[in-house]
Amino acid sequence: MKISQRAQQLQPSATMKVSAQAKQMIADGIDVINLGIGEPDFETPKNIEQAAIDAIKSGKTSFYTPAAGILPLRTAVADKMASDYGLTGLSASNVAITTGAKMALYSTFQAILDPGDEVLLPEPYWVSYAEQIKLAGGVPISVPVGSSFKVTPADLAAKLTDKTVAFVLNSPENPTGVIYDQQELTALNDWTKAHDVMVITDDIYGQLVYNGASFTSIAQLDDQLDPRIIIISGGSKTYSMTGWRMGYVVADEQLISKISAFLSHATGNPTAVSQYALLEAFTGNQDQVEVMRKAFEDRLNTIYPLLTAIPGFDLPVKPQGAFYLFPDVSGALKISGIATTGEFVSRLLSEAHVALVDGSAFGVKNHVRISYATDMDALKTAMARINKFMVQFK
Ligand code: PLP
Repeated sequence: MKISQRAQQLQPSATMKVSAQAKQMIADGIDVINLGIGEPDFETPKNIEQAAIDAIKSGKTSFYTPAAGILPLRTAVADKMASDYGLTGLSASNVAITTGAKMALYSTFQAILDPGDEVLLPEPYWVSYAEQIKLAGGVPISVPVGSSFKVTPADLAAKLTDKTVAFVLNSPENPTGVIYDQQELTALNDWTKAHDVMVITDDIYGQLVYNGASFTSIAQLDDQLDPRIIIISGGSKTYSMTGWRMGYVVADEQLISKISAFLSHATGNPTAVSQYALLEAFTGNQDQVEVMRKAFEDRLNTIYPLLTAIPGFDLPVKPQGAFYLFPDVSGALKISGIATTGEFVSRLLSEAHVALVDGSAFGVKNHVRISYATDMDALKTAMARINKFMVQFK
């Protein structure tokens, strides 16, 4: 048997690993609260489910769809870019529908990177970016940022080389929940323009913003999509559609045709039934989106004070978007005498029965990621359990 060098270097997704471990403990009868994964706990809205049932019943399942997705869905995404982002002049040929936003990112890296090309990733960054860049032959370059967790042109400039090809921006960000404002985005856009660096903007949490915050994408600073900018998004987070695996890329037409060629060999097409479901998500009734957003907002407002009251958990700035908290736990390590965040999350899981993710999976030391995509009672209980775990060391 042989395993490639590429596969040998590959680690499973840390967030999925923690979650699988927690799910196994729950299956074994242990009362674990899983705050490890970014998986909204709501049912997919009924109208979306019905669209999928109708697609099955009307026989839309027995053929391959075009590799980049069915035309009405690609058109619906282009229309969404006009209505939500104010981007004019886009059509179905600027859109590829993919098997989750993960495949949107994967196929993008495959289409833009040559061996040795560098991609700037502000720390902390979502676990899969770095692995996907490596799988495309590229080199992920971590960019340390200040305590605001927001990258600046100066931070990027410190890591710029003649091999820099792209920069990945995620706002609202996983795992910190920070949102970039228009001024910050303009500065980043000007810098990337001046250095001819492409921007991959991962906007998957764009509709999950709280307490009056608003979302602007770097892609909407101009009326027309700059060919340097690639937009990634999907249905998983906004419509609670993680299991349907529906994402998309919006980009220059030429690039989309190459992404589409890649997808034709990689996935053939995204699942037909799911495409009809996403079409309904984008064109049908939007009431449930606000219901779910409001529920996340209430959870954030409830658990933020509970979390920051736990000894050794430090998170001075309240997040504004996505559904994660990323506290500094240096204090908790000191108080407990536990040496590493890896050991800390493992002790929390085995002793307090709460699953969190070690922040080092996101390239940053001394932090943990807490997902609040879980119901309010479970969240309150989890905070009480973590508090009890910490109080024993005092
Ligand atoms: N981008 C970010 C920042 C994410 O957090 C996730 C999922 O956790 C994804 C992309 C992938 O989403 P999808 O479920 O559509 O593949």
